[in-house]
Formats: sequence, structure tokens, C-alpha cells
Amino acid sequence: MKVQMGGKRRKKFFMRSSILILILLIILALLVSAIGTNSDENISTTNTRKVISAEKNKLATKIPKDKNGNIFMEQNKLYKKYTVNISSANKDVSYEENGKSLVISVDKGVQLTLNSQISDSNSKDLYITATNGKKNLVISKEYKDNNFVNINEGKDNNQVIILISKVKKPLTHKAVLNPGHGGTDSGTVFGSLQEKNITLRIVKLMISNLEYNGVQVVLTRDKDEGQALADIADFANKNKPDIFMSVHINSMTKNPNEYAGIGAYYYDENGYQTEARKKLANIVLKNTTLKDGWKNDGVLRAKYKVIRLSKAPSVLVEAGYLTNVNDRTRLQDDKIIGNLANNLAQAIVEFVH
Ligand SMILES: [Zn+2]
Repeated sequence: MKVQMGGKRRKKFFMRSSILILILLIILALLVSAIGTNSDENISTTNTRKVISAEKNKLATKIPKDKNGNIFMEQNKLYKKYTVNISSANKDVSYEENGKSLVISVDKGVQLTLNSQISDSNSKDLYITATNGKKNLVISKEYKDNNFVNINEGKDNNQVIILISKVKKPLTHKAVLNPGHGGTDSGTVFGSLQEKNITLRIVKLMISNLEYNGVQVVLTRDKDEGQALADIADFANKNKPDIFMSVHINSMTKNPNEYAGIGAYYYDENGYQTEARKKLANIVLKNTTLKDGWKNDGVLRAKYKVIRLSKAPSVLVEAGYLTNVNDRTRLQDDKIIGNLANNLAQAIVEFVH
């Protein structure tokens, strides 16, 4: 009996043991396979990383720094603003935007050097790559949208201005800008100088400054094309801007030496927005004439169609007389035109804020 009993116990013991061993084996097998999978993943991840960093090392280079460097940087609460000065002899400047960065492409021979004023922490966001005979300045984005590149062509220098948004929604206001005339309508003409080209140039130079200060910019035209005045006002009204500005160049053939400077025109049909429009015209004159040697031609009330039909506070700026020799010289000076554009932009920023 004892033996039989013992035999049963032994059988039970063996059965229990083998079940236990089986379970242990299964657990072991699962563990091994899990570890196996993990180690596989580890290997592949490491490999991918290696490949990526190898690619990056091969292509990306740090940008050298120099006291005469041509890449500058400033920032405010909304944007990091990089300005790259490139000789106008290098015409081939282009840019593209992808999910993570803005890429400015120039000819391989173009020198790209950080100006010493850029701190090390800010220079981390930039590097250079080379593709297909091109040199690329790559600037990392912080947010997907509302980053901008504007290329301003000058006589000696082309300026590439890159804005990298520091906040999700940097643009809190909107301006519609109208470069006067265009297409077959050249506006006032003096020799080879045409009003339609000068107004487009001034307006394009205003864009970066406005965006940098949180003002979204909409242009009624960005190339040489004609537009009916009523259509311009319609287009502006559809965009529901905070402000509408039309830029023109004046002329007075009778006594050209007596007429010079900047005039700001408003129109308030039946008292519509009288105070706001007068205020805007005054701010424009203050910003443009006080800072940069332009004569003050006054705030004037005139029934110009684009400002009459505009629903938003609006102003028409006559930025100098093409018939006046001093003004004409100034209107061909890159620096003065640049200052004028900045001052007009500043006037808008002051008004909307
Ligand atoms: Zn005009």
C-alpha cells in the first residue's frame, strides 16, 4: 500500500514537475523570443541612427563665424529674424520650405559666414549643406506655419530676410498694401523711371518689417500688372484688413523745384472714420518725414477712389515727387528707399497697435 501510494505520489510529483518545467520552458521561450525581437529592434534602430548621422556628417557643416560675416540676426517676442546679404552679382537665390526647416539656396561660390554678433545658442539653428552644385543655408523652424522668406533685390546687395516664428500665432493684424499703378498704366514717368516700378519696390520692402511685428501682409499686386481701382478696393475689403495703404509717387511738372516731399491723403465720405483716417495719415507723415529728411507735404483730404471705397482705415501716400530733382535722386537710392519702406511699415505697426 505504501509503495503503491508512493508510486502515485511519484507519478504526481513527476507530472507536476514536468508541467512546471513545461511552463518554465514556455516562459523561457517567450523571454528569448522577446529579447530576440528587442535586440533586433535595437540593432535596426542603431543602424538607422548611424546611417542618418553619417548622412548628416557627410553633408551638413557648421557655419564659420567672422566679424565681417554676412548673416545677421535679431529677434523680438514673435520672430527670430535672419538677414543674409548676398552680392547682387549672385542672382541665383531661391528658397524652399519643408516641415522642419527653411532652405535658402545660393551658388556654391557664395560665402556664407555668421556675423560675430550671433550668439552660439542662436547659431545652433543654422547649418550648411551642399547639393547639386548649390550651397544651402538650412534654418530650423520652431513652428510649422507663419515662417517667411523675403528676397529684396538691391543695386549692390540682395538681402534675404528669413523670419522664424517663436510663437504659434504671431500674426495678430492684417494690412492690405497697394503698389500704385501697374501694367499699361505706368503712373508718372521721368526718363526710364516709372512710378509703377518704384511703388512696387517700396511695398515689397515693407513686408518683412510688418510680418516681424505681427502684421500679416496682403499685396494687391506683386508684379507688373494692371488693376481697376474699384477691383483694388473690392479685393482689399474682401480681405478684411485692419488697414489699407496705397503707395504712389507724385509729380508736378509746372514748378518742379517747389514741389517736394511726402504727402498723406485721407478721405472720409460723409464723416466715415474721420478721426481714424486723419490719425493714420498723421502717423504716416510723422514716421516718414521726421526720421529721414523728406519734406513734409502735409496731411491732405482728397477723393481718391481706392481710399474712398476702402472699408478699413485707409491712407494714400504720395512718396516724393518724381519731377523734383532731389526727390528723384532719393527715390533711386537703395538705402533711402529701404528706410522709407521701414518707416511706412512702422507707421502701420504704430497705428494697428
Ligand atoms: Zn500714382
